[in-house]
Amino acid sequence: TLQLSHIGQRLAGPSGIQELMDDCGEALTLYPDMRMLGGGQPAAIPEVQTLWRQRMQEMLADGSALDKTLLNYDPPGGNPVFREAMATFLKRECGWDVTRENIAVVPSSQTGFFLLFNMLAGDSATGKRRILFPLLPEYIGYANQALCEGQFTAVLPRIEERGEHEIKYHIDFEKLKVTPDIAAMCVSCPTNPTGNVLTTDEFNQLRDLSRQHGIPLMIDNAYGHPFPGVLHGSWRPQWEPGMIFSISMSKVGLPGVRNAVIVADPAIVKALSNMNAIVSLANGNVGQALMAPFLTDDRLMKLGRDVIRPFYKERSDFAKGVLANALGNEIPWALHAQEGAFFLWLWLKNLPIPAAELYRRLKAKKVLVIPGHYFAYGLDQEWRHPHECLRLTYSQPQSIVQEGLEILAEEVKSLR
Ligand code: PLP
Repeated sequence: TLQLSHIGQRLAGPSGIQELMDDCGEALTLYPDMRMLGGGQPAAIPEVQTLWRQRMQEMLADGSALDKTLLNYDPPGGNPVFREAMATFLKRECGWDVTRENIAVVPSSQTGFFLLFNMLAGDSATGKRRILFPLLPEYIGYANQALCEGQFTAVLPRIEERGEHEIKYHIDFEKLKVTPDIAAMCVSCPTNPTGNVLTTDEFNQLRDLSRQHGIPLMIDNAYGHPFPGVLHGSWRPQWEPGMIFSISMSKVGLPGVRNAVIVADPAIVKALSNMNAIVSLANGNVGQALMAPFLTDDRLMKLGRDVIRPFYKERSDFAKGVLANALGNEIPWALHAQEGAFFLWLWLKNLPIPAAELYRRLKAKKVLVIPGHYFAYGLDQEWRHPHECLRLTYSQPQSIVQEGLEILAEEVKSLR
């Protein structure tokens, strides 16, 4: 049998994110009849696909620029010209006071968070340092990234029930305690899986707490600011020194290039870049080359505002309508307020079976969803709520979303 180290056991065993990626990958390749309401890939939006195709053609036409991209290793913190262009873009479009020294390119935000969580937290000279997730449920992809036992800790939300069929999670500041072992706080905003967006007040309180304790506030903007900009309200997070922001290329239609940008203090950027040299040598540079010309103007902001955000808004409204219709009023259910990102978060109150079992039954009926318990971790207590929840993606074609949601509703109603 395979002999594994402690770290090997932590990373090479089964994990939620690996099951999810395997399941979704298989669904897309081996089982084309599976109704995929599970994955996190962006929808195929014609305008977005056309844009990247045209840009790729432009690169092909200029052979020497393409050769230079493909042939060279970049420095481990990213291409200096790209870092400069990104800093200028963020300064101009978002008003953030950043320079190239604040920008690190990483091989995906998934990798960026792995490096950051383990750089900042874990065993240290002063004992165990932890990452605090102030608002569960939180992104499944973080759950297994800690190299040490007990490196993650989290706070349960305050659940606001708005009428019969809507909820919103809030940070429970009464329970949020930043003890000396906390190395950083981390929130995805908009949140995968719930679509929650922090209120201005919550963001400011987190900022004040992190300043007061001299720890970074990490904000994962994978679905949000500045691109793809799938934030339905008007508030946008503002980077300030001491914060760590992550901006992914994936949700503007480029998950295949595996590139993301971390915005942070220069010391963190340097440390990340040093770690990246050891782990990855250099980043993929095709994504940087594809995106670079779009950083010189506001085309990416417009794409988010005029194309990507309305696209998901429409899809979300459609999926909500189908689901509300199919579930009706016989059983108790609620959706999280749709404030951003690409998902519906469904709470099936008093669900008689765990969400994991519902997931298995639905998979047998060729509907793939993600059970809610994967999005709750860092806890030292049982929490029933996420076992009554499902994450549903509506980025697939509408007929598939409709069929999938109707089968789901039928299955849930049959349990009563
Ligand atoms: N963060 C969040 C909240 C996500 O949902 C995802 C992907 O779905 C990622 C990070 C990972 O993104 P990337 O493709 O840049 O690794």
